[in-house]
Amino acid sequence: MARAHAYVGRFAPSPTGPLHQGSLVAAMASYLDARAHRGRWLLRIEDLDPPREFPGASASIVGTLARLGFAHDGPVMLQSTRDAAYRAAFERLQAAGHVYPCACTRREIADSAPPEDRERAPDTERVYPGTCRAGMPPGRSARAWRVRVGDARIAWRDRLGGEADEALAESVGDFVLRRADGLWAYQLAVVVDDAFQQVTDVVRGADLRGSTARQIHLQRLLGLPTPRYLHLPLLLDAHGNKLSKQTGAPPVDAEHGVAALNAALGFLGLGAISAPSPAQFWPEAIARWARSRWNVD
Ligand code: GLU
Repeated sequence: MARAHAYVGRFAPSPTGPLHQGSLVAAMASYLDARAHRGRWLLRIEDLDPPREFPGASASIVGTLARLGFAHDGPVMLQSTRDAAYRAAFERLQAAGHVYPCACTRREIADSAPPEDRERAPDTERVYPGTCRAGMPPGRSARAWRVRVGDARIAWRDRLGGEADEALAESVGDFVLRRADGLWAYQLAVVVDDAFQQVTDVVRGADLRGSTARQIHLQRLLGLPTPRYLHLPLLLDAHGNKLSKQTGAPPVDAEHGVAALNAALGFLGLGAISAPSPAQFWPEAIARWARSRWNVD
């Protein structure tokens, strides 16, 4: 009998480059968790930031995953087709008074931070000081649109990392939903799409752990359910840096698919599987995940 809340997982890469070993780990973990729960696994391309996109990356990621034997359920969803949904969510928040226009430049926000903060956090992680919260200074015009966080305290639980508790005013402040360049922010798009696709379980890299409280805040303002979250440790290179497209991580070599899959499986501490082809790799990988320390509720 089908459960009322059957598991739905997803992998949601941004097409900023071909699939690399770090994103393969996230893809694999989300896939194994979905399959170990007899759930569905969706593939969503987060192509809502054209300036950061790499030509051909979407097709390359989808093709590499297919060659590695990942079988997604339903069609691939492209965020570039979802403008109307993001706009509708934004307008609901706006109608309820939760968003406001902000004239501040990045520089102004950085300059308004106390000196100890300036040293501690890179520009992009500064707490927004609330300059435009009660209205923009005279003569200035809107660049971005921000959502109010007020005194929201978000208590949530990571399946792996346990309890977390974040006061958004202290960690990020009012955050951007619509950027100065007119693009929708990741935080809004991901919340709208996870709800639209009825995602029950998000399994992703620890670099996104810090976004979770913001996403839950938006889910609450929009009256959307909160999925369960599991954040994986990050895959680091030999210098201790996050493996990412930005740091030049090499693309996954789909010619040697089983080797690439085993490297990712090894990172997850699940050993190696001798399989003649990617298709024959997966059943044992799913069984190992199901018995592993990752498979926690
Ligand atoms: N698109 C995001 C990335 O590639 C991941 C989004 C998510 O899993 O929530 O980093």
